Amino acid sequence: MARRFLGHHSVSALMTTTKASLDYPEAIVDEYVKHGFSEVFIRPLSLFGFAKRNIKHLGYSLENFADFYSRALDRVLYWNRNGVELREGTAALILNKILSSFDAGYVDLQSPCGAGLAVLVYNYDGFVYPSDEARMLAETGDVSLRLGEIGTPFEALMRTPLMQHLATSTLSTRDPHCSSCAFNPYCGPDPVGAQAEFGSIDAPSRMTEHCRRNTWLFDYFFRKLQVADTTFLDLAYQWAQPAGSHNA
Ligand code: SF4
Repeated sequence: MARRFLGHHSVSALMTTTKASLDYPEAIVDEYVKHGFSEVFIRPLSLFGFAKRNIKHLGYSLENFADFYSRALDRVLYWNRNGVELREGTAALILNKILSSFDAGYVDLQSPCGAGLAVLVYNYDGFVYPSDEARMLAETGDVSLRLGEIGTPFEALMRTPLMQHLATSTLSTRDPHCSSCAFNPYCGPDPVGAQAEFGSIDAPSRMTEHCRRNTWLFDYFFRKLQVADTTFLDLAYQWAQPAGSHNA
């Protein structure tokens, strides 16, 4: 019905990988093809709100996700080889970082972090948060990342000690772990994720789920590019273009 009213290409379907997905990467990708979508975004579970409360039922290890993701990507590549145009969102973001000089502006991989600088969330509870994840933390009782009340002037929000701390401590060249990481031109710390996992925005970057997952993803795509044939390279450069320009 949404497609009928909005147009076929105005509707997307967003997937989140849960424990129940792990055995079905090919079937999930095939379902997107069956319904005529040209993009699938293989996303891991985030440790916030409802998902965090239900982690025992929904959660899995990074190794499980890595296996699931690489099988799903292989299936996406299979369809592309067979003439079906299908872009995978996570691959596109990582390849954009590695191969393109035009950043797609993906907030989770910005340095300093995008929280508060690229995003401000004005929530129905009357407060302003530096990201949607910070708002989700507040929903489960942790209001430590509130920037201020709605109505507070923008300049005052930007001058709060929390915002100053987010902006200055999350540069990938300054963070003690990121500064010596090979991937720091493409990545940076995730203080909101650190707060969710460890109860502190200053938790060591290397220990965070964000870091472990992105280390794996960058490593995986560098290895893939190292042995790539021209078919994969063509696709990789096409996906690496920021959204909206990848057909140009
Ligand atoms: S992969 Fe980890 S250590 Fe490297 S820049 Fe990203 S968050 Fe920092």
